Amino acid sequence: MSNKKDSKAPNGSDKMESIISLAKRRGFIFQGSEIYGGLAGTWDYGPLGVALKNNVKALWWKRFVSDRSDMFGVDAAILMNQNVWQASGHVSGFSDPLVECKKCHHRFRADQLEDAKKCPDCGGALGDVKQFNMMFKTSVGAVQDDSSVSYLRPETAQGMFVNFKNILDSLHPKLPFGMAQIGKAFRNEIAPRDFLFRAREFEQMEIEYLVKPAEWQKAFEHFVGEVHGFIKDVGLDEKDVHELEVPDGERAHYSKRTIDFEYDWPFGKKELYGLAYRTDFDLKQHSERSKVDLSYYDEETKERFIPHVIEPSFGLDRTILAILCGAYTEDELGGEGEKRVYLKLAPAVAPYKVAVFPLLRNKPQLVEKAQEVYRAVKKAIPAAAFDDNGNIGKRYRRQDEIGTPFCVTVDFDTIEKGAGVTVRDRDTGKQERVAEKDLIERLSRGL
Ligand code: ATP
Repeated sequence: MSNKKDSKAPNGSDKMESIISLAKRRGFIFQGSEIYGGLAGTWDYGPLGVALKNNVKALWWKRFVSDRSDMFGVDAAILMNQNVWQASGHVSGFSDPLVECKKCHHRFRADQLEDAKKCPDCGGALGDVKQFNMMFKTSVGAVQDDSSVSYLRPETAQGMFVNFKNILDSLHPKLPFGMAQIGKAFRNEIAPRDFLFRAREFEQMEIEYLVKPAEWQKAFEHFVGEVHGFIKDVGLDEKDVHELEVPDGERAHYSKRTIDFEYDWPFGKKELYGLAYRTDFDLKQHSERSKVDLSYYDEETKERFIPHVIEPSFGLDRTILAILCGAYTEDELGGEGEKRVYLKLAPAVAPYKVAVFPLLRNKPQLVEKAQEVYRAVKKAIPAAAFDDNGNIGKRYRRQDEIGTPFCVTVDFDTIEKGAGVTVRDRDTGKQERVAEKDLIERLSRGL
């Protein structure tokens, strides 16, 4: 039985403040360009954040690419020919409604205001709504004219559509098959907010799954299940995720069916992931504009057609934020007294799986033995840490705070009686003695 007393973690903005502060304090995520006062909508990942992010990417790649035989990885350039964005509809239509306050000149997204006429900051009157294109425009090469215009991609999807023919010609896959990509996307959001939730630079993990037109429903349903599977992989609680069938008139211009997977964030229920049936819109558009035939020839039916597309789209940074929100816990450990903050991370995503300590730092024999144990553990479980700073209680707290599932301690009984080491469980604080020879097996069982 656990000796843990659960107390409720703070909610809403308090909880967000606690998470942002933990993320900074412990080297997960920092404000972008912080020493210059930051750059709104940008975030820098520190060592623990990178480890967490890499773990999430690896789980995604495993589920959606390497564990399957019908998925092809792509890593396309971020800068693309401007025709891509003309064809996709982003130049003419990728915009949000912008309003400016006539008095304080603050700018807002019109569709996110409670009162469309009054400034939420100063109460002044708001001006007319204008469409604001969210793509970051740049120019390529030394001469700046209309032909040098390019954009930082606002989604990774187009990098896959433009490579459809390359995949067909080089790997000759048969339908259905998918292209998968993880990479940066950029959107000049009018109001970046809520930490990683709405940033101007972020990462996406996207799939363009190509099917025969009549088979889109089957593939759509399949990916509904796969999205839920991934949600479990990264340790999110299913009860915090809700499917929203996006009604007619509210879907993107290319979509015939969309499900938003919404998450219960501390700041409300909002989109985590999207799943869209994009029809043959993109390939058709690119075929027409590039004059390159992007059709598929079905050898069985002797038919030539443009495949239809199911697109599961995952925000990587929103995944990280959801993981942090779900994992952030405050409690009191019965056996260890005081209040603590810990991240209840699924072992698969935790930056460190195990930390090894000597009970006391000023006893060379203990330190030496702990280092020996650490080296052996690290060989089998590379995401292992060694810590001999401060007292043992503080070390446990530090590891709890970054979500390390296990702490292994070498004490006097280890070296004097050959009595093995202690293994402490992050969530319960309970310790058990484990023989050295069984240690890796015991840890691996819990990871
Ligand atoms: P929203 O309505 O929240 O702006 P969207 O519908 O525009 O999102 P999509 O275009 O479907 O989002 O993008 C796919 C995924 O990329 C989203 O589900 C989300 O996880 C992520 N994403 C989109 N915009 C941002 C952003 N500004 N910051 C972080 N992640 C984002």
